[in-house]
Amino acid sequence: MNAGTLVPPLAGRVLRARTPSAGPHLICRVVLVEHEGRYALIDTGFGEEDLRAPRERLGGSFLWMAGPKLQQDELVTHKLYDLGIETERIEAVYFTHLDLDHTGGLPAFGEAKAIAHEAEIHAAFQGQSRKETLRYRRDLHLAQHPRPWGSFPTFDETWFGLPAAPLQLLPEGDAFVLDLPGHSAGHCGFALREEGRWTVFVGDACLEIDEFTRPDASTPLGVRLHHLGADHNRQRARETRAALHRAFVRAPSGTRWWTSHDPREALSP
Ligand SMILES: [Zn+2]
Repeated sequence: MNAGTLVPPLAGRVLRARTPSAGPHLICRVVLVEHEGRYALIDTGFGEEDLRAPRERLGGSFLWMAGPKLQQDELVTHKLYDLGIETERIEAVYFTHLDLDHTGGLPAFGEAKAIAHEAEIHAAFQGQSRKETLRYRRDLHLAQHPRPWGSFPTFDETWFGLPAAPLQLLPEGDAFVLDLPGHSAGHCGFALREEGRWTVFVGDACLEIDEFTRPDASTPLGVRLHHLGADHNRQRARETRAALHRAFVRAPSGTRWWTSHDPREALSP
């Protein structure tokens, strides 16, 4: 589901991500997981509160750099309503990481357990640097959640070479959280298997799919600037992108790959 369109300045010149109908733009992908009538989300995109007070909640520089459209009909709550799923039925919200464009919709899911990487929760709630304070805006976004936050188990398994931990989200062996550090202190991805086919959600480890499908291709200026400005640890972020390329090649043919913001999907060869 797309829970928010982003049109960064000069998008047409700096991004490869484009769809024939909509032109160059980015999306905020949210994944809905259903198993035996129980529901969970991965990330939330923006929320109602962001639409009401964008400057206060997201900040002027984020609004300028990311160019979010902030449309009511794109909110995850709206998408769930269209699917006939009440927000109270979302039992858990898993996060790739806790940036504003991934957590803004959380207030609509006060009943749900919010779960992220321990290092991410620590950076978001206890980080003292100016960058961390601006990045997470914890008082407005994260600290409002009425239930205690949960964290992922330790990553002592692997999924096609990527450090992984099993999740109870789907039948045993069908759901893993992947340790994909670099973009933020505890950035993660998810591998989910449905009817024998894997889908991998790499979050913001890569902005565009080309970064792991064609790592030798030259990277557009906008993508380079994004990593320069947003990555928490550039070296680890580069290592994660290289590991994603290896996993992309090793994974079963037809494995589907998504990033948070690229409207396109990639398929393993
Ligand atoms: Zn993002």
